[in-house]
Amino acid sequence: MRKTKLIAGVGLAAAALLALTACNSGTPGAAPSESAAGGGEETSSTPWTVATDVTIEGSPTFDAMTERGSVKVGVKEDQPGLGYLDPTTGERTGFDIDIARWIAASLGFDEDQIEFQAIPSANREQAIVNGDIDYYVGTYSITDKRKEQISFAGPYFVTGQGLLVAADNDTIDGPESLTSDMVVCSATGSTSIQRIKDMGTAQTKEYDTYSACVEDLKNGQVDAVTTDEAILIGYAAQDPDNLKVVGDVFSEERYGVGLAKGDTALQEYINTMFTDGGDIWQQIFDNNLGASGVEGEQPEVDPVS
Ligand code: GLU
Repeated sequence: MRKTKLIAGVGLAAAALLALTACNSGTPGAAPSESAAGGGEETSSTPWTVATDVTIEGSPTFDAMTERGSVKVGVKEDQPGLGYLDPTTGERTGFDIDIARWIAASLGFDEDQIEFQAIPSANREQAIVNGDIDYYVGTYSITDKRKEQISFAGPYFVTGQGLLVAADNDTIDGPESLTSDMVVCSATGSTSIQRIKDMGTAQTKEYDTYSACVEDLKNGQVDAVTTDEAILIGYAAQDPDNLKVVGDVFSEERYGVGLAKGDTALQEYINTMFTDGGDIWQQIFDNNLGASGVEGEQPEVDPVS
């Protein structure tokens, strides 16, 4: 039932797609304006084009993708607006999904060469270390601890931790109103669960996914769900009669693209794509989150991510 409910609002991003043709030049962003000269392939529904004749010197990941003829991308699939899989149509939508598609296109791979794999927060580093995926795009905060095992391109988005509560909850209006008799739910392995544990003001419950926490919240099993506000806004939008986001954000989460540690050639390539992508980022944002109330502007890339 939950998934059925989630479907409705997500479609609006797709419905909002305009004729996306005007783009600034971008290298290696593969903007449509380049396609005439570069022979790239333009589709009417995406702001990016598939690059041709891509070479990246010294990237083991790119070599593996080229050899394989496909791209393996780790994502989330239960976060409406960001990374979502429609169980009925099989369609993947969301800001992160489109960022992942843009990267694949700029590496020379088209949609049917992308293999998406849902990987929960706790398993991301290991999936990258194992080489199960080529890169990960899914509300993945850049942290020093994670950088011990992997590298990040980006940041490509900045949000902050927030709280989701029942619409009729008048007690919780921010992290300072949490008390020891309350239970707050979040995902294992996330910065969100760690921060709420460190704060030590409420009890915690954790699952692999945030959607499991949202179910518990709706059933009255927990008092709040905590994670990045951009994620929580997506859940609240699906069920505004029962859920609301409260208070100010209480952290800064800078989203990066998770990569094999030390693949600086790929990291630099993706960073250049973000920096020189013209208005592609903005179009991806507008298409997926523009109507949601999530605020955001493209952050500057940090070369040492
Ligand atoms: N951005 C936070 C993190 O990377 C929370 C969201 C998530 O778990 O993906 O831990």
